[in-house]
Amino acid sequence: MIDNSSIEALKNSIDIVDVIGNYIELRKAGANYKANCPFHGEKTASFVVSPSKQIYHCFGCGVGGDAIRFVMELEKLSYPEAIEKIASSFNFTLRYSQGSSDYSNIKRVLESVQKWYVKNLDFQPQALEYLHRRGISKSSIEDFEIGYVGRSGEVMQFLGSHHIPLPQAAEAGIVAIGENSGYYARLVERITFPIYSTSGTLVGFGGRTLGNHPAKYINSPQTKLFNKSRLLYGYHRAKEHIYANKKIIVCEGYLDVIMFHQAGFKEAVATLGTALTADHLPLLRKGEPNVILAYDGDKAGRAAALKAAQMLSIAGFEGGVVLFPGGKDPADLIAEGKGDEVARLLRERKPLIPFVIESISSEYDLNSPRAKEEAFGRIKSYLENHSEIIREAYVSTAATYLKISSTLFGDNVKKEKVADGITRPKDDIAQLSILKTLLEKPELIDDVLDIVESSMFGNYRELFDLIVSGAAEDPRLVGITLDESLQAMSQEELMDMLKSFLIRHYDQQLKLIAADNSIEFRKKSYLIRKIKTDIIPRLKRGESVAYKNLLKEV
Ligand code: ZN
Repeated sequence: MIDNSSIEALKNSIDIVDVIGNYIELRKAGANYKANCPFHGEKTASFVVSPSKQIYHCFGCGVGGDAIRFVMELEKLSYPEAIEKIASSFNFTLRYSQGSSDYSNIKRVLESVQKWYVKNLDFQPQALEYLHRRGISKSSIEDFEIGYVGRSGEVMQFLGSHHIPLPQAAEAGIVAIGENSGYYARLVERITFPIYSTSGTLVGFGGRTLGNHPAKYINSPQTKLFNKSRLLYGYHRAKEHIYANKKIIVCEGYLDVIMFHQAGFKEAVATLGTALTADHLPLLRKGEPNVILAYDGDKAGRAAALKAAQMLSIAGFEGGVVLFPGGKDPADLIAEGKGDEVARLLRERKPLIPFVIESISSEYDLNSPRAKEEAFGRIKSYLENHSEIIREAYVSTAATYLKISSTLFGDNVKKEKVADGITRPKDDIAQLSILKTLLEKPELIDDVLDIVESSMFGNYRELFDLIVSGAAEDPRLVGITLDESLQAMSQEELMDMLKSFLIRHYDQQLKLIAADNSIEFRKKSYLIRKIKTDIIPRLKRGESVAYKNLLKEV
């Protein structure tokens, strides 16, 4: 069990903006942050995170809570699992009252395996020779803790002699269960590269074969600690340089990253055997760096760069693309001592949007009007995903590449405006404002209860009751707290609001009483007179009159 005081300490040390920011992109909006809700499909951002209140709320689907609740809901984890997940990604050491956590077991397994891998390398002349040939220096081997893993039997022997239970090794992604339900090592006969989380926790390995294995690179499988699709190789080492120099170099392989760092480009990272996807955007956004895509100049590299550049520019990133010429990867150039050339290529990177326009144009034979028409369609719809200002800035570039008149992009390029926010009837706003005021100033609840009762709140009756009973953490109330379109009132304003609220209610009662034929005539005229000549005038004079449902007295 995780110690309670340890959970409290964790809660105090984390910021909900960091926790949620690890999963989705948050944009600053006033005092809060906004995003498209990860729990329901939407195009407008109704998901709000409040740093001051340390809570989140979605105005679209109504979910809400604190950082731990978010991780529980999104990752489908139990409360202790979510705590462990957060603690691990923030390098926070939890205390346990008895036993130990799964994560500490996984970490222990990974760390001892890693030490062993590193030791193995010294006895692998072939692997050392390969690394040397690729230009990787001895100190880079040490800095990046490159190692070697031998045959499956050796791995099993190591685990056995170090008393590491196989189920734990399986959880850490080191072994897997085969067809005959026996365990086997996942990574064998490969050079190993340890993979760290952004905060520097060892979470898995990448492995490069030296033999003829069809898969040149293999990574550890997805585990509780290792999420390949969101991590970038080398990020924990590059982090401070990315923040300081406001740039990040995204390349394709581990060796590229290591060679970039070796040559002094310490902002280099790589995806983990996948293309760059939207899952990487939150991490890329951190520190607001200029994103430089440094890919191979071959066909696959070009196609990957085009996709990534489109995604990044549409997501509002600044950045550019460098394609390394002659089928070489950046690691080769650096190994050949052409660090200066690499620096020049990086400096002369093609900005994202012109790169996309040029790449799409180059896929077509622009002498053919039909082909030109198709290229135009693709570029036009790509530009339509940008703001009007950005679009206007690049229309002439596009027209030049396509050799067409820029007026063709003209008036047709109009973006449909998406209605943002929810429109509410005036009555609702009045009631919601009262609720918001009571949430912010609970000391006024008694004054309000002297005058009104929950039945007056119609659709919001339940919420009013919740506030009175002190249940402010209800997600719907959190929503009201965070709703910036609602204003909390001063005590005076609140009283005035309640009085006009009362007047409207009595007006309504008046109509109901007049229309109700079951009320005896004398009673009816008494009630009407009471409301018209006594209650409403008193309210209008500013007196506090406690609310009564006179229909109930009938
Ligand atoms: Zn939602």
